[in-house]
Formats: sequence, structure tokens, C-alpha cells
Amino acid sequence: MQALKKESLLEDGLHYVTDQAEPPVGHFDVKIKVTAASICGTDQSIYQITSRQGMRDEMLIHNGGDVSGYQPIVVGHEFCGEVVELGEDVDTALVQVGDYVTSEMHIACGYCQQCRSGNQHICMNIRVKGVHLDGAFADYVSVPATNVVNLERFGGREVIPPRFGAFLDALGNGVHTVMEGDVAGKTVAILGCGAQGLMAAAVARTLGAARIYITDYSNPDGGFSAAHLAHRFATARELGADFCFDTNEEAAPGQKLELFDRARNEHGGGIDVILEMSGAEGAYNDAGALVKNGGEILLLGIPARPLRSFDFGKYAVWKGVTLKGIFGRRMFETWYAMLDMLATESTGLKARLEKIIERETVPLANFEQGFERVRTHQAVKLLLVPDAETKD
Ligand SMILES: [Zn+2]
Ligand SMILES: [Zn+2]
Repeated sequence: MQALKKESLLEDGLHYVTDQAEPPVGHFDVKIKVTAASICGTDQSIYQITSRQGMRDEMLIHNGGDVSGYQPIVVGHEFCGEVVELGEDVDTALVQVGDYVTSEMHIACGYCQQCRSGNQHICMNIRVKGVHLDGAFADYVSVPATNVVNLERFGGREVIPPRFGAFLDALGNGVHTVMEGDVAGKTVAILGCGAQGLMAAAVARTLGAARIYITDYSNPDGGFSAAHLAHRFATARELGADFCFDTNEEAAPGQKLELFDRARNEHGGGIDVILEMSGAEGAYNDAGALVKNGGEILLLGIPARPLRSFDFGKYAVWKGVTLKGIFGRRMFETWYAMLDMLATESTGLKARLEKIIERETVPLANFEQGFERVRTHQAVKLLLVPDAETKD
């Protein structure tokens, strides 16, 4: 079958192959024919592995950290598709051949302390398909039946078409983060106006945030000009953001000052809830400066390397701030909440998210074109399709 593989952790890029063996189907597994898959920041990090030390360490975590012992995997973890085969012990009350599904790609062990106390999303032995195990940039992917999210239960393709079904994993990160922030009636600042930041803006608006700020740092040398970011901000406003600020003082004079002025004038002397979704070093100090005393900073972004400067005394201790890391999606509370919000038209979530989905899909074989468009900020959510005839 076709597949997109990471062959070596010593060089950048991915390999498109047509001779990958179809994935085996264990007794409790479900085999899915992939309809569409979405490119995310994690995939970009895997692509650019030589400059992503953290990602490389993570990919080696289950084989002793030894690069020479790395076993190539099929990448990709955001997808939807159709069930084509069930393992012999799969309960057909859960899922049947022909069902339109997606899957939680974090595979929890089921026996560690976290798994047994309702925290499977931070399982000690977690394995992620598309990072540690074969993923979904392929014709077929197999997953444990207990990880399948059966979209037929939420209205099927009519209600959750593949252009949404293909990135529920990513949207779930945003939903998880915003729900942890308990944002109803609060002021929220989202740091990072990439796919995660934009989705979080839409979710925070849906969940009743009072005021939503969003920031990013334009980087003209990195091909992300102030004008380009201003265009992103226009999308952010359509998704629910009230105020948008470019924190690059040289490229966008005055905006950072205005942001801090506004935040200081909020009732608590700062923002109630900060959602850090950029992983950019400068953003952590912005988070600490913007948050009100007693506020919360939720961390979803992953820094490319350990931070050199974050003033814990000033920004966490003296302010009595709560810092919390967010990983994956709660299994499966996040999924139910997300799909119910999407399936109910009046929440407005689906209509908002339409604005970040690239309508033109890219055949899996042309993956370079897709990765390039996401990397250069021309597209936010772009879908790769194994079968080029696929329409949403
Ligand atoms: Zn992802
Ligand atoms: Zn576990």
C-alpha cells in the first residue's frame, strides 16, 4: 500500500513508498481505509527532525534513545476513514465494517496507575500512532477497537464530513485546553495564532469566554511577515477573537504596548486564563506578564528546546498563578464534548472552523506540496488523501 514514512532520524524529510505491507489486524483491532488525513505541527517536527531534538528524543523513547536502533514508522495521526475489517474479538455493538470512524491515536496501556485512575491521556506507557507506531498517512491503518471513535453515532458523514473528521485529534487538543480553563465569562488570551490557536479561539467563543485576545510574533525572516500575520488575525476575528496583537515590536510598532495596557486594565489587573499554544520562548514571559494574580496558564505549545528564561518567582510564585500542562485529549470526555458541539449547529463551532479548512485536498503522493503549504503558512488545516478521487 501507499504510505508516508520516516526512514531515519538523522535526516530531514519523509519518504513516500508504495510497497508498505498493510497493517496486521489483531484480535481486538479494527482496520480502517483512510479517507483523509491532516498535517499537523507534530508531523512538521518529524519532517524537520534534525532541528527538533525534543521530537527525536520522544521518537526514540521506547528503544533506549538509540538512533541506530530506530525502526522506520508510517507517520500521521489525524485522520478519518471507513472500517474494512474487524479483529475476531471485536464487539460489533461498538463498530462494524463500513462504519465511518476516526480514532484516538494515543494508545494507553490500561494497567498503569494513571490509566486505572481515569487519566489514560497521561498513561505512563503511552504510545502514539504516527510517532512511536505506524500511523495514518497510508491507505490503511489498524487501531485497537477501544480507541475507535465511531462517527456514525454523531450523525456520520452528513454531520461530520471528512474535512472535519480528518482533524478531530487536533481540535481535541484545543477543546481539552479550553475546557481545562473553564473559560465561561472569563477573559482569555491565546498565545500563538497557528492552527491550535485559531481552533482554541473558536472553541473558547463557543464555550462562552467573555473576551478573547490572540497574539503571535511575526517573523519576516522566517517568511511570516507582519502583513501575513495581519491576514491570519482577520481569520482569528472570524473565528471569535476580539483583539489581535503582533508582539514583534519592530514589525508592528505599538501593538505589544497596547496589548499590555489592555490586559492591565482588565478587572483583575490581568487576563484570567492564558492558553499558551505557540511553544515560542518569548511567549512564556508574555504569559507570565499578562496573567492576573491568581490566574491560570495552560500549556499546550511545546518549546523546541528547554527554556532558558522564565521568571518563576515573578510570574508564578508572587502572582499565585496555576501552571498546567495539557497533553492529548481526555479519553474520552474530550471527544464526546467536541463531537456534540460540532454536531449541534447552533453552537456555531462547525461554521467557525470551516474558515480554516483548505478546500483543495492534496494526494498523498504529493505530500511535499502539502507540507510546504502548511510550513509557509499558506494553509492552516490541509488534508492529504490517499485516494485522489476523494471528495468531502
Ligand atoms: Zn496532530
Ligand atoms: Zn497506562
